[in-house]
Amino acid sequence: MDNKKVADVLDDIGDMLEIMDQSRFRYLAYHRASQVIRSMPRDLEEVRRDEGLTSIKGIGSGIAEKLNELLDTGQMSYFEELKKSLPGSLTEIVHIQGIGPKKAKIFYEKLGIETIDQLEEAVAVGKIQELPGMGVKTEENIERGLEVYRGYEGRLLLNQAIPIAEHIIDYLNRDGLVDNISTAGSLRRWQETIGDIDVLASTRRHSEVADKFCTYPETSSVLAKGDTKCSILLHSGLQIDLRMIDPEHYGAALQYFTGSKAHNIHLREIVKKKGLKLNEYGLFRIKDDMNIAAKTEEDIYKALGMTLMEPELREDKGEIEAAIDGSLPHLVKLVDIKGDLHIHTKASDGQSSLEEIADNCQELGYEYACITDHAFDLKVAHGLDVKRFEDQWKEIDELNKAFDDFTLLKGVELNIDNKGGVDFDDDFLGRYDVVLASIHMGFGQSKDQITDRIIAAMENPHIDMVCHPTGRILGRRPPYSINMDKIIEAASRTRTFLELNAFPDRLDLSDDQLRAAKQAGSKIAINTDAHHFYHLAYMRYGLHTAKRGWLEKEDVVNTFTLEKLKKLLVK
Ligand SMILES: [Zn+2]
Ligand SMILES: [Zn+2]
Repeated sequence: MDNKKVADVLDDIGDMLEIMDQSRFRYLAYHRASQVIRSMPRDLEEVRRDEGLTSIKGIGSGIAEKLNELLDTGQMSYFEELKKSLPGSLTEIVHIQGIGPKKAKIFYEKLGIETIDQLEEAVAVGKIQELPGMGVKTEENIERGLEVYRGYEGRLLLNQAIPIAEHIIDYLNRDGLVDNISTAGSLRRWQETIGDIDVLASTRRHSEVADKFCTYPETSSVLAKGDTKCSILLHSGLQIDLRMIDPEHYGAALQYFTGSKAHNIHLREIVKKKGLKLNEYGLFRIKDDMNIAAKTEEDIYKALGMTLMEPELREDKGEIEAAIDGSLPHLVKLVDIKGDLHIHTKASDGQSSLEEIADNCQELGYEYACITDHAFDLKVAHGLDVKRFEDQWKEIDELNKAFDDFTLLKGVELNIDNKGGVDFDDDFLGRYDVVLASIHMGFGQSKDQITDRIIAAMENPHIDMVCHPTGRILGRRPPYSINMDKIIEAASRTRTFLELNAFPDRLDLSDDQLRAAKQAGSKIAINTDAHHFYHLAYMRYGLHTAKRGWLEKEDVVNTFTLEKLKKLLVK
C-alpha cells in the first residue's frame, strides 16, 4: 500500500470524526499523521520494517496500531466501523469550500445528501438556502466551491505526480535499456496541476522496454502495449503513458510531446513560413523531405533561429519572440536558493523542532532559515504570545552560537485582521528579523475590503512580506476576491516582498501573477511554509513555478546572501 493511500484513509477518518463532533484533538491527530505520511520521502512499509511506525514524529501508538492492521491486512476495522455509521462519501463533501463538517451533517440529516451529485442537485433547485441558518449567500458560496471542485477533478498536484514519474523513470533507467528518458507534457512544464503522466524514452530495444514498463510493480492493468506507445493503469487509478522513440529522433519527440499546444501551434506557423514541417520525428524541408534537425531539442530550435527555451516557458506567452531576439530570461535555479523564510515549528501548528529545522536546512545547503510561527491572534494554530516568542528567541540564540555558516532568523507569521491590523504593536514587531503577514480569515469579504486589508498591512513599516497572497487551495478553495494590480503596485511602492508559497496545493502567487509582479519591480520570496521538516523539500515546486513566472535570480530575495537580504529587509 503506497503512502498516498494510507494518508487518504487517515484523512477520511479525521473528516468523519469531525462530522461526528469528536474532539478537535482527536480528529486533528489523524489529519496530522496523514500530512506527515503524505510528504514522507520514504516508503511507509520500509520505515515500519526498519524503525517502526512510532519512530515517525506525529504518529502515536494508537494510530500506529491501526496502521499496522491496515498495512498487514489491507483493511482497518476502525475505519470500516466508522463507515457503517456514516456514508463514506460525506468526507468528499467536506472537501468542498464553503462546507464544513457541521454543514455536511445538516445536509445529510435534513436533505439526505450523501454525495456530491446530490449536493449539486440541491443547489440547482435552491434547497440549501431554505435550510435554517443558511441563505442565498451560503448557497452561492457552495456553488462556487462545487465549480472549483469539478474543475480539478481527476487532476494531480505536483507532489502527487512528480514522485510517481520519477519512480518510473528510475525503474526504467536501471538496466541500460533506454538511452535517454524524460517526463513530457504538462508535467515537464511543471504546470500547477497535471492531467496525466507522460514519459518519453529513446531506445533501440522498444519491445524490451515495453515489457519492462508493463510489468512495473504498481501496475493493475495494461491498457495498451505496442512498440511506440504503452499505457498502464496503476493500483492508485493513475494512468501512465510511455512513448518510445529511436535515439536519432529523441529531441524532436521531446519537443513535440512537451508542448504546450499553444506553443507548438505558434511554432508550426513559423516552421511553415520557412518552407519546413515539424513533427515528432524531426524538422524537415518540404520540397525534398530532407531532415534538418531531430536529435536534440536545441538542434530543432536552433535550426529555426531560436535559442533553446526551458520547458516551463513553453506556453506561447512571448517565449518564442524572446528566443528569436535573444532576450530569454536567465531563470532562477534551485542551487540559487540560500534559505527558506516561512517555516513553522511545533511551537504553533508545525510538527518539528527548531533543531530538526536547522539540521535539515543545513543539509539543503542553506545559509539561513527563518522560523515564522503563528502569532497570538490565530488561536486555532496555537499562536504564540510575547512571552512564548521571547522564549523561542532565547532558544534560537543558543542554537545560533553553535552554527558556523548558518543562521536561524527570528520571524513570525502575523494574522491580518478585518481592518488590516496585526497581532502585535510596532515596538514588539521591531524586534523580529523578518515579519510575515497573511490573511487567514474573512475569505468571503468584498474585493475592496480584502485588498484594503492587505495594503494596510503592507503600509506597516515592520511588515516585510505578505504570504500566500490569494489564499487559494488548489482543488479546494478558490482565491478570495482581490485586486492583484493594486496589491502588486503597493508591494513595489512599500517595498514589501510578495510570497510564492511553494506548498504544492497553494503555489500562491501563480505563474502569471509572479510575472506581473516582476514587471512591476516587486521582489518575491519562494517559501515552503513547512509545517514539518519533510515539507522543506517542497521548495522545488515553488522554484519551477517561479520559472513559469519568468523569474530570475535577482527577482527572488531568498537567493541573496544573508548580508544582502538584511539590507533589503529595512523598508
Ligand atoms: Zn498562513
Ligand atoms: Zn504559514
